[in-house]
Amino acid sequence: MNSPSDKNMGIIKGATGDWEMVIGLEVHAQVTSKAKLFSGASTEFGGEPNNHVSLVDAAMPGMLPVINAECIRQAVRTGQALGARINKLSVFDRKNYFYADLPQGYQISQFTQPIVGEGVITLDLEDGTTKEVRIERLHLEQDAGKSMHDQHPSMTFVDLNRSGVALMEIVSMPDMRTAAEAGAYVRKLRTILRYIGSCDGNMDQGSMRADVNVSVRRPGGELGTRTETKNVNSVRFIMQVIEYEARRQVDVLEDGGTIRQETRLWDTAKNVTRPMRSKEEAHDYRYFPDPDLLPLELSDELIAEALASLPELPDAKKERFTAELGLSAYNAGVLVAEKESADYFEALLTALADATGKSAGDLAKKAANWVISDLFGHLNKAGKGAQDSPVSPPQGAELLALVEDGTISGRTAKDVFEIMFESGRGAGEIVEEKGLKQVSDSGEIEAIIDEVIAANPGQLAQYRAGKDKLLGFFVGQVMKATGGKANPGLVNKLLKPKLDG
Ligand code: ADP
Ligand code: MG
Repeated sequence: MNSPSDKNMGIIKGATGDWEMVIGLEVHAQVTSKAKLFSGASTEFGGEPNNHVSLVDAAMPGMLPVINAECIRQAVRTGQALGARINKLSVFDRKNYFYADLPQGYQISQFTQPIVGEGVITLDLEDGTTKEVRIERLHLEQDAGKSMHDQHPSMTFVDLNRSGVALMEIVSMPDMRTAAEAGAYVRKLRTILRYIGSCDGNMDQGSMRADVNVSVRRPGGELGTRTETKNVNSVRFIMQVIEYEARRQVDVLEDGGTIRQETRLWDTAKNVTRPMRSKEEAHDYRYFPDPDLLPLELSDELIAEALASLPELPDAKKERFTAELGLSAYNAGVLVAEKESADYFEALLTALADATGKSAGDLAKKAANWVISDLFGHLNKAGKGAQDSPVSPPQGAELLALVEDGTISGRTAKDVFEIMFESGRGAGEIVEEKGLKQVSDSGEIEAIIDEVIAANPGQLAQYRAGKDKLLGFFVGQVMKATGGKANPGLVNKLLKPKLDG
């Protein structure tokens, strides 16, 4: 029987008691590089089938692989960004198997001696807490080609454009306990890869995909047998696979069955996993060191230069935003999730501090709130990222500076921002043209208050007879008479004494 799982604890309530899910992910991330791992062919996405294929990628006899230094550098940088051990000596192995999209008959990969060893990723969970997930290894390998079954009624075609493209396989330890943690892991990994530019993280183009390993056990007990669901290409699907697989396994076990260690596929139409083949073991691949490639030795210079090339990483940025700028962990987390968002926020804050003469610390919370609610709200609706914002950071700062110095109210700023976002025009210009300046002149406001009171003698009498609620009515009338431009703080201050007589 299926029963709802407790998403927070990763506990599944079965008929025979509680079960705990255990998850480990193998993420394949395509290395950002113009050329493939062992050939000069282009790695560009799209393009006509078999247009980016060199003789090496097509496995013509006698061709020799030549290692692409940029892919090595990117793998080292990624290992460093994951706080992982860099192995100065690593080895490329042949992983032998037969498949139509693998003309070599083997994939060049790394088995016993990967380029990167143990590391760690810190997950930012929804409740604001963090959790560390250990990385077991990162190794480099070639991608295979693609079989296309939808081009002809009775034949399968093969496209070798991806054949030989460099992948980093990043393997986690089985440290995750909920689908939400696995989602947070993939998002965080993607954020880190994008920050350092070693993978574009575009899951919809296949640049990042995950093999999802799931098992269940009695809470805290021995690890159960896992299944591995291959090539899952979105965070949502990864989470669905985990929920589905864990529940399926509990049902099998509670019915007295056993879990087979096998490879499965996610059926996106039916939202179920299906068996693909029984799990192959390492010896099935008859791994051996590729005789065409020397062991890879990294120089100290390469390692030092790779480290020096890393930008400030998301965890460090988040720490700085909370410790130095006083942002909440939640807001800081939202801002650093994409490098472009964090860059936008920092450029805005600098420009705003310049424009107002106030300190960044005093302005940071307001600036963060505006970026997260107003700007991101509009960008999300328009399907744009911060880097494509029609309102630049200095333009955003100009708008917020007008609120800071009292020229316009926060309410008016929202309307002005609408126009800026549509037209790309500056805030000052729009405020001027539409006459939106806030009225902060007490004399002017007082005169309007007098008119409003004179025009509403009935309400005034009721107010004075004790109907306090009517204060709101008078505030509303004054705002209306000024077209919403009266400084609301000033209205409240001046109105009450006059009403009280
Ligand atoms: P393979 O190449 O055979 O899939 P790897 O060691 O490369 O083996 O990857 C195994 C993956 O499965 C790792 O991500 C690991 O964390 C995960 N894993 C291992 N044991 C379990 C288990 N009992 N339950 C869930 N995940 C597991
Ligand atoms: Mg695997």
